[in-house]
Amino acid sequence: MDYIKAGGLTTPSLPNQMKAHVDSLNSIEKLENLGFKGRDASLSISLGEYRIAGLTYETVKYEENLWKVLIVYSLDNGYFDRATYDASTDVEREWNWIFENDRNRDSLSDYLSGTEETIEDFLKWDSLYKKIEVLFDIFGYENIFGTTYGPGFQIEGLYHIVCGNCDFLHGFINGHCPQCGTPKNH
Ligand SMILES: [Zn+2]
Repeated sequence: MDYIKAGGLTTPSLPNQMKAHVDSLNSIEKLENLGFKGRDASLSISLGEYRIAGLTYETVKYEENLWKVLIVYSLDNGYFDRATYDASTDVEREWNWIFENDRNRDSLSDYLSGTEETIEDFLKWDSLYKKIEVLFDIFGYENIFGTTYGPGFQIEGLYHIVCGNCDFLHGFINGHCPQCGTPKNH
């Protein structure tokens, strides 16, 4: 049995295991059918270029309705991993090393200034997924989701965005190639 990570712990009591199982997540078509959304209207471009997509879904735990966010994100080797959070997760607490550190706060502020928003605005966003998408783009998957233990999985039908400088095939972080640092639109 294959479980997904929640805050670094395995959760064998995950109510909807099939939704999180890699066999349900390993093609663009399956992810689209589940309702995954990313930054681009095309899910393939979202995962190929921005390396992340998410699904907010309702489930039942202990007879209580609960909203969850399931995220699929790209590792640096073309494989993907997944993580799940309660939709009510407090990002200031979960990723406190960002919000309690001036340099990290500045990185987030700079990123948000492109849309003339502040960290206070950001914290009020309704969608946990959208917040994580931003934090992932700035700080990278290892910092946001922790160490990946498995080999990850591949996604069929993915549209790859190749770095023009070094031919890195697996998208960009914060607008830059994670391998050589060249800006995306160079
Ligand atoms: Zn590159």
